[in-house]
Order: sequence, then structure tokens, then C-alpha cells
Amino acid sequence: MAVLRIRKYGDPRLRQKTKTVAAFNEELQQITADMIETMQAASGIGLAANQVGLPYALCVADFGLVKEGEKPRVFINPEILETPGSMAPHEEGCLSIPDLTDQVDRPERARLRFQDLDGTIHEQEFEGLIARVLQHEIDHLNGVFFVDRLSPVRRQFHHKKLKEIAAQAQIELLEEKKKKRK
Ligand code: ZN
Repeated sequence: MAVLRIRKYGDPRLRQKTKTVAAFNEELQQITADMIETMQAASGIGLAANQVGLPYALCVADFGLVKEGEKPRVFINPEILETPGSMAPHEEGCLSIPDLTDQVDRPERARLRFQDLDGTIHEQEFEGLIARVLQHEIDHLNGVFFVDRLSPVRRQFHHKKLKEIAAQAQIELLEEKKKKRK
């Protein structure tokens, strides 16, 4: 297993919509195991594949941080079927946007369809923090950040910090290119 580099706000891959996973093979198991290790090493509660530079529609979430005894879970090709219930604000952060948090309005419940590592299709409703985490990760898979969901006033408030993070993302991309050339 390996801890992967987490890409930051400003990295173009985080704005691209991810591709449907079609091959349920050993490589997929390796990718998701690495993603779980990366998420846990960063003390994150969720991680989308494009956050580690992989253009696939899959994410992982650490339910153990919400409910004792629960294991990290893998969601392949996840989609939101419906969001019953009301909207609620809650503080959110993101491993790709370090040191920035804000209140985000989201539906409190979400009914999802997704596949597991064997390709089996599941439908399940989630609520509370887990529903929020999964909506945040599915946003990533569609190229959306939680800061996109803030009001223009709040986005403006974070403008300078976001510009700094995007500049850092560009530096990291250049370093990666240099390493590849060697
Ligand atoms: Zn995030």
C-alpha cells in the first residue's frame, strides 16, 4: 500500500468530471486500498479519486470516525438518487483546501446508488455527517468544491487564501513534471 499525494485546489484535474469505472479488478482494489491509507494518513473523513490525480468516479469514506466499530467504505460510480429531508448548515473542510473551513448548506439525507469492489450495485440512504461527507465527495467527482457552494460574499472572503492555495498547487504540479522528466 502507498500514501498518495493529495492534489490541491487549483490543480486542473480537480475540475474535470471523472470517468465511470468499468473494470472491477485487482488494480481497482489496489487503488482503493491506497486511497484509504492516504485518507487515514491525512486524518480525513473522505477522499475522492481525482484528489489523488486518478480520473475515476470513486471515493472512500471513513465511517469509523462517525460511528465506532465501522470500517472505511468504498463507493464506486456513486450517484445521488434523491435528497429527502431539509437543508442544514454544517462546517466543512477539504484535504485539497488546507486550513479553510466554512458553513455549507446541504440536504441532511441522501439516497445513493453505487457499486462495490465486486461491481455489485447497491442503493442505500445515508443521513447526518455521513450523508454530508458522501455529497462532498460526489461533488469532487463532478469537479465541484465545497467553496463553490458558498455565497458570493463568503467566496470573496476566502478569495486571497484560495489564490494562495492555487499558487501552491501550480508549484507542486511543476515539481511533479520535473520529477517525471528525470
Ligand atoms: Zn474535499
